[in-house]
Amino acid sequence: MRLEGIHHITAITENAQRNVDFYAGVMGLRLVKKTVNQDNPTVYHLFFADEAGDPGADLTFFEYPGAAPGRAGVGMVHRIVWRVGGPEALDFWEGRLGALGIEHRREGDGLHFADPEGLDHELLVADVPDAPLIADHPEIPRELALQGFHAVRAYAAAPDASTAVLEALEFGATEAGWEARGAERGGLYIYDPPPEGRPVQGAGSVHHVAWACAPEEHLAWRDKAISAGAHPTKEIDRFYFKSIYFREPSGVLFEIATLGPGFTVDEPLEHLGEKLSLPPAFEHLRDEVEPKLRPVVNPRAEVR
Ligand code: ZN
Repeated sequence: MRLEGIHHITAITENAQRNVDFYAGVMGLRLVKKTVNQDNPTVYHLFFADEAGDPGADLTFFEYPGAAPGRAGVGMVHRIVWRVGGPEALDFWEGRLGALGIEHRREGDGLHFADPEGLDHELLVADVPDAPLIADHPEIPRELALQGFHAVRAYAAAPDASTAVLEALEFGATEAGWEARGAERGGLYIYDPPPEGRPVQGAGSVHHVAWACAPEEHLAWRDKAISAGAHPTKEIDRFYFKSIYFREPSGVLFEIATLGPGFTVDEPLEHLGEKLSLPPAFEHLRDEVEPKLRPVVNPRAEVR
């Protein structure tokens, strides 16, 4: 039993439109689901991913209009690392970000930049056997596009405190960091020493990272977390997948989410993300919720 790498990463945005413009417009991801935060259905939950909406390339945002800027600190994920196919992809992204006036910095095999709210990204040439998870974008050749998540980097003051939980979750210690690698995919969890200053969960900060598992193993993973002293929630049915949540000892909020049923459970693949999707348990709130959400224009729909 192994986790299949990163399932999704969830962060916070103050402005859904600016967020969509950046992730669908600039980074070339597909907006695969436009729904509401199930724990607070008055705000958007936006999901970006590859063309098929696969776990492994799924970056999601809660929109909190008016949220103050966040600041990554101890116990928080501070950087998202994406795979790209080779150095020519880094050249392409250097040029694309430069042309769009987005600050960036090339370092070795990586290209670093931040989203408009300060969330850090790195594009990395990674040597892994995993299938690339690619979205179509008219300005981004497929061979140069993002290929899914490689790693998240988190700040921890005493990362050894997390060893028992990570080992119970079958993460392997590698030179690059802790690795969750299953039959199909892998993902890294890497600690960095924290900066000075209080962490602030706000706009442009990561809320949690979810690791992927086979649906039939979900409760067994919950038991493993408990066995290592973690305190997971009950299994929660998020409609698109099932989830459990717990804080790992270094303070980062972990989720373990099932591979499937996925985003085509309520929309056909070719129309993912076009309408506001409400899971059945939330559909009765549509007339109340939809008028309060600021409409979002998807730049990808405009260029097609
Ligand atoms: Zn989640």
